[in-house]
Amino acid sequence: MSEPSHAARRATAGPSWQQELARAVRDPAELVRILDLSPTLLEPARLASRHFPLRVPHGYIARMERGNAEDPLLRQVLPLEAELGAVSGFVADPVGDLAASKGAGVLHKYYGRVLLITTGACAVNCRYCFRRHFPYARANASAEHWLPALRYIARRPEIEEVILSGGDPLSLTDRRLAELVAQLVDIPHVRRLRVHSRLPVVLPTRITQELLNWFAGSRLQPVMVLHTNHANELDDAVANAVKRLRGAGVTVLNQTVVLRGVNDEATTLTELSRRLFDVGILPYYLHLLDRVAGASHFAITQVRARALHRQMAARLPGYLVPRLVQEIEGTPGKRWLAP
Ligand SMILES: *Cc1c(COP(=O)(O)O)cnc(C)c1O
Ligand code: SF4
Repeated sequence: MSEPSHAARRATAGPSWQQELARAVRDPAELVRILDLSPTLLEPARLASRHFPLRVPHGYIARMERGNAEDPLLRQVLPLEAELGAVSGFVADPVGDLAASKGAGVLHKYYGRVLLITTGACAVNCRYCFRRHFPYARANASAEHWLPALRYIARRPEIEEVILSGGDPLSLTDRRLAELVAQLVDIPHVRRLRVHSRLPVVLPTRITQELLNWFAGSRLQPVMVLHTNHANELDDAVANAVKRLRGAGVTVLNQTVVLRGVNDEATTLTELSRRLFDVGILPYYLHLLDRVAGASHFAITQVRARALHRQMAARLPGYLVPRLVQEIEGTPGKRWLAP
């Protein structure tokens, strides 16, 4: 009896973010079919996805151009044959995360802030990701295991910022995250709560009221660092999610990785900065690719990256020029490469 009205309500509300996540495309054949791509892409995609699975939600696929194998969003997620061979200089743990790990999912490399690996899960598997070989199962602070991480922070009064990272911290439920934040609030020297996430871009329905409650509703100053590599990723749904974050008092920043064939043109990067600001996000970091095994086809030289950065600086106001940075194992901060 109540069935039709229930269904109608569901139809207007749309699927929950968990449902969208569960329906993410994992089969290369499905991706090829949806986007009307050449079937010759299939076999290499199947091979490469055995090492690091394909994973991409439908809402992100909808922003790609049908029939275009070079689409800048597709290139970030489609497994390619180029990932398979070993390339010298491209290694499993290029940024020394394992060395910096203090156990319990705590990465403490930089003064005053710690990074918590909250989960290994992501909404999307980015082919260039430096964590594609990271052994999360050993390193993350999930489930009942917040306590050692919280103790680590509580014992060090110089830590004023806690960064939730992963994987993607927003792939955890709001209930779990609210529990964690409630405990961080009790540590008096923690002032800022930062979340590093690609989920608001890939799956903007993730910005729920419950999220705004735990993230922006405590005494901790909320900062969200998104991860966007191309202006096409920022559609109206993302713009709306950012508006809600900002409405709740969240400072919203972005980091980008320079990727060959995705955004390694000055016009593309300049347009990305403009579009970020249009939707209320400030560009923060422009990363050189971490030299992770399987991602060598995304690499550009440091000389070329610096040139792109200089061209951005020549065309944009200073506040829209992200810092060009490189992560070097064992250094106390990301290395800034000046324009
Ligand atoms: C990037 C990073 C941070 C944050 O660095 P900021 O310069 O503050 O953005 C903190 N810890 C680790 C381990 C990092 O990799
Ligand atoms: S950690 Fe970030 S870059 Fe890596 S796969 Fe997950 S969302 Fe992509």
